Amino acid sequence: MTDRLPGFNTRAIHAGAAPDPTTGARATPIYQTASFVFDDAEHAASLFGLEAFGNIYSRITNPTNAVLEERVAALEGGTAAVAVASGHAAEFLVMHALMQPGDEFIAADRLYGGSINQFNHSYKNFGWNVVWAKTDDPASFEAAITPRTKAIFCESIANPGGVITDIAALSEIAKRHNIPLIVDNTMASPYLIRPFEHGADIVVHSATKFLGGHGNSIGGLVVDGGTFPWAGDARFPMLSAPRPEYAGKILAETFGNFALAIAVRVLGLRDLGPALSPFNAFLLLSGIETLPLRMQRHCDNALAVATFLQNHPAVAWVSYAGLETDRYHQLARRYTPNGAGAVFTLGLKGGYEAGVKLVSSLTLFSHLANIGDTRSLIIHPASTTHRQLTDPQRIAAGAGPEVVRLSVGLEDPQDLIEDLDAALKV
Ligand SMILES: *Cc1c(COP(=O)(O)O)cnc(C)c1O
Repeated sequence: MTDRLPGFNTRAIHAGAAPDPTTGARATPIYQTASFVFDDAEHAASLFGLEAFGNIYSRITNPTNAVLEERVAALEGGTAAVAVASGHAAEFLVMHALMQPGDEFIAADRLYGGSINQFNHSYKNFGWNVVWAKTDDPASFEAAITPRTKAIFCESIANPGGVITDIAALSEIAKRHNIPLIVDNTMASPYLIRPFEHGADIVVHSATKFLGGHGNSIGGLVVDGGTFPWAGDARFPMLSAPRPEYAGKILAETFGNFALAIAVRVLGLRDLGPALSPFNAFLLLSGIETLPLRMQRHCDNALAVATFLQNHPAVAWVSYAGLETDRYHQLARRYTPNGAGAVFTLGLKGGYEAGVKLVSSLTLFSHLANIGDTRSLIIHPASTTHRQLTDPQRIAAGAGPEVVRLSVGLEDPQDLIEDLDAALKV
């Protein structure tokens, strides 16, 4: 091999992994242990003082999780990653590293519903204030910036409508004001979009979805792009001020272009504790080995299903950026030429009743609240995830009474189309 970076498929299988040095095990073993024996007292002291890298306790590092971290960092093109218990934990630990009480961050209004709740309600308890901007209007982000703005947050492909975000336009604004840009890359996965190539500084993932890909484990990742200059910036004291518990070390100076990942690990995981189980890391790693194959099939199937639905007499509209008529198609061609992902919404002419009927008449599609499974999934938000909202609130969130969301799986597309066709006739 030359010193050329291996290709994406190769990295998805090999990055971070090697045969186990003690047993020769070729698949990454599950290091199902809470803690790790020190070589001697001096070694222990150096680990606790951040003078040496090594394992202490699986809340902070674990060898199985470390392979997952290195693999996802390699796929995204980041300097380091931290595996955590869920996608929400990843978002939370990034904010914990950046925000002080009274600070603000600007978020795109097209987001996963769970993130909207997290930002609007739970973060208020920490004094972290979300300011909403319009996903389609980069100028609305710039207009919302104040001296207390510590981050801009968006999704690469936004859940649920499959909206494509102009990451480069947001990055330009973020750079102009010296604010880090965080991109939730869950819906695209690094196979479709690598946000660091478009100017993002931090990537977060719900690995529960396409990275793991089999609907069997909850997990999340924070990936450090290594791009943001934290050192000497008093707005980010977690990174730029001396840490009393680490003998006055300044993380940004000691760890340079992976300081954010270190802060998430040695401050966030250490003190807040949402660690990923090594068993889940093992399942997520197995899933990632086939990420490129699965994502391409997800996209191809989604386009076939969306094309069928667009021409169906019971369907009022389909919102899928892979369709040439879609308003996000130009952005999709620019950001995600291999396909526009597998999650999209459609509107039924028969409204609420038709939505309820459709989800209960399908046989191959599972009616549940998840995305990114091998299996095809469907949900009618108005009667489930968005049930507690008023109709105007539901419509603003892209979850009006007639809307259903699909996550197209890896089955034969003809079977999916026949299942939908039969259920739409009911
Ligand atoms: C599911 C999801 C999350 C939250 O991840 P969990 O693993 O469920 O905690 C965050 N962002 C997006 C885009 C998601 O789809």
